[in-house]
Amino acid sequence: MNSTKIAFIGTGLMGLPMARNLLRAGYPLTAYNRTRSKAEPLQKDGAKLASSPSEAAKDAQIIISIVSDTPDVEQVLTGENGVIRTAKPGSIVIDMSTISPSATRIIAQNLEARGVEMLDAPVSGGDTGAIAGTLSIMVGGKKEILDQSMPILKTMGKTITYCGGHGMGQMTKLCNQVAISLHMLAASEAIAFAEKAGLDPSLMVQAVGSGAAGSWVINNLGTKMVKHDFAPGFMVRLLQKDLRICLATASEIGASLPGASLAHQLYNSIEAHGRGDEGTQSLIALLEEMANIEIEKRTE
Ligand code: NAP
Repeated sequence: MNSTKIAFIGTGLMGLPMARNLLRAGYPLTAYNRTRSKAEPLQKDGAKLASSPSEAAKDAQIIISIVSDTPDVEQVLTGENGVIRTAKPGSIVIDMSTISPSATRIIAQNLEARGVEMLDAPVSGGDTGAIAGTLSIMVGGKKEILDQSMPILKTMGKTITYCGGHGMGQMTKLCNQVAISLHMLAASEAIAFAEKAGLDPSLMVQAVGSGAAGSWVINNLGTKMVKHDFAPGFMVRLLQKDLRICLATASEIGASLPGASLAHQLYNSIEAHGRGDEGTQSLIALLEEMANIEIEKRTE
């Protein structure tokens, strides 16, 4: 039995299985979710439920948050009923949401003024990685605070990378989102180009996927694009939220993101076609429209 008391805030698609893994590893855990019913399944695994972030945090040594966007993290950590109202000096907040690096630094300063440490620790690996406890976790903050928190992070993730001071975990995650959005565009464009030329796009995916232009996206989502399987692993609206943060951060630091800007604009059109809750591979539908083609349903 582990004795470190954990408060867990946000039991959505990602948070619920992450909290469950902590409970199964024996940590005493109090969960808070805005919509209480979504945290109730954790009671079977031994969780207590709290009715506010401040109530969840009051006895905790480690406070984990994984909610949607920057204002949501500000609300649960430093807002009116936020963690900051009750967290004990010496406790550690680990925010695992994907949010703005600059806002993260401000939250960390506000918590530090109350003697509370913070790590930004966004994740990659989707709900399957959250369920399996194999997430990739990118960490910013003080190295010694990461060292103290390592056993807890290892319960949720497999690859844990220290990226630098406050906000650098978020910066690493944003680099991941820039790259993934462009991989998505590269795969969609190649598939639409193949189809327009009368080439079987599945054959192209197979041939290209194992060569120098191969990528996780073309190998895993290329096949889904060809089959028009748009069930979400990662939803368009969440990628758009992340690209908005990437572009705002680029403006703050004077960086240029020409490719990510283009991907964001194209995904605006995908959202305008009502595809915001689909998987990000649905970008192929727009490239098909632009080339005035429909991927042919070929028989083997
Ligand atoms: P989700 O299923 O939509 O869950 C979002 C959670 O945040 C819910 O528990 C929601 O509460 C809570 N929340 C949102 N706004 C809140 C507020 N103002 N106050 C209190 N609670 C609030 O999303 P998710 O997929 O778990 O994603 C969570 C975070 O992980 C996001 O930052 C996302 O970008 C990141 N992420 C997601 C994936 C993925 O594959 N899904 C992968 C990597 C990273 P309610 O239940 O009341 O709505």
